[in-house]
Amino acid sequence: MPDCIALIVAAGRGVRAAGRSESRPKQYRPLAGQAMLRRTIAAFLGHPAVDAVRVVFTEEDRALYDSAVSDLDLMPPVQGGATRRESVLLGLESLAADPPKFVLIHDAARPLVPARTIAAVRAALDHHAGAVPALAIPDTIKDVKAGHVRGTVSRDHLWRAQTPQGFRFADILAAHRTAASEMDANRFTDDAMIAEAEGLDVITVPGDEDNMKITTDADFARAERILLGQLPDVRTGQGFDVHGFGAPGTNSSIMLCGVAIPHPRPVIGHSDSDVGLHALTDAILGAIGEGDIGSHFPPSDERWRGAASHIFLAHAAELVKKRGGRIVHCDVTVLCEEPRVSPHREAMRKRIADILALPVDRVSVKATTTERLGFLGRAEGIGAQAVATVRLPAGA
Ligand code: MG
Repeated sequence: MPDCIALIVAAGRGVRAAGRSESRPKQYRPLAGQAMLRRTIAAFLGHPAVDAVRVVFTEEDRALYDSAVSDLDLMPPVQGGATRRESVLLGLESLAADPPKFVLIHDAARPLVPARTIAAVRAALDHHAGAVPALAIPDTIKDVKAGHVRGTVSRDHLWRAQTPQGFRFADILAAHRTAASEMDANRFTDDAMIAEAEGLDVITVPGDEDNMKITTDADFARAERILLGQLPDVRTGQGFDVHGFGAPGTNSSIMLCGVAIPHPRPVIGHSDSDVGLHALTDAILGAIGEGDIGSHFPPSDERWRGAASHIFLAHAAELVKKRGGRIVHCDVTVLCEEPRVSPHREAMRKRIADILALPVDRVSVKATTTERLGFLGRAEGIGAQAVATVRLPAGA
């Protein structure tokens, strides 16, 4: 008999947290570069109090599930039901043939559960039928109707319940079966409530503010801040690029920092020869030790002939994202006698910010001449250098 199994409830189809382009249920959405479900599972998989992990999912999400966690050592997932309560019951029933002594039931949407919370819940089960992590309510609670305060509720006995909620397996399975037979079974909003209805002894253990349930975009942002804040790994990369001018031609504009600028002489190169974006791409690649622009987009490859350089920059940003990181800031200096950069500087910042999905105040574009010295000073070409600061999770 296994001692303790973690049951992760991930059958919800909620896409409430998602942006307009997001159609995945939130548990499969990346959180600092990893599917939220994967982070949630990882908290239990490596925990000394947990022997095995089973996910309750929905077959509709099979492909998402496989791509998020198929390489992890998990029990096979089981199909959930129409409500969270039904999903938990199906998960418990799936364990009944070889029942564990204890089960920890946890929401997939709480990926930041601390190891100490899991330990405290499991430890409490040595002496109690159930245990729930809970937090006191620091704010004064108002009774409000139609915007008008009717009174103040005593919060002396009020606590916020989190998960994992732990139980002796046989007790919670019996309680869930009873709950399922009730007319108003949907009134149960968590497993502790089902245990309470059976009169089981459920105690609280200290919860944790970081163990929040992630629902909205703001929650995602806060969770990413917490994750990145836990283990900061800040890196800087630099890049440099030069392209020469060709003879005056019919093409009367050049690309510089993603913006087309009128100029009588073309810039010579394999792609669109945007020195600003090339230098910046190399800076980002440098910050994550991923080679240089030529190793990702070889000039010998015909696919990149005349390519728009925002493709290169977006690729570098994607590599940062895949590492669970984020670009903090970038700074490009254009070196040339001509064309004049300043009239286009704000458009360049905005364009780079768009490509990198950054606020524009995290992007800087500057320009200088070289006082007519050297090949840039003779206006034989145009150069750029760039610095990028990237923040990665530790161990990435
Ligand atoms: Mg180049």
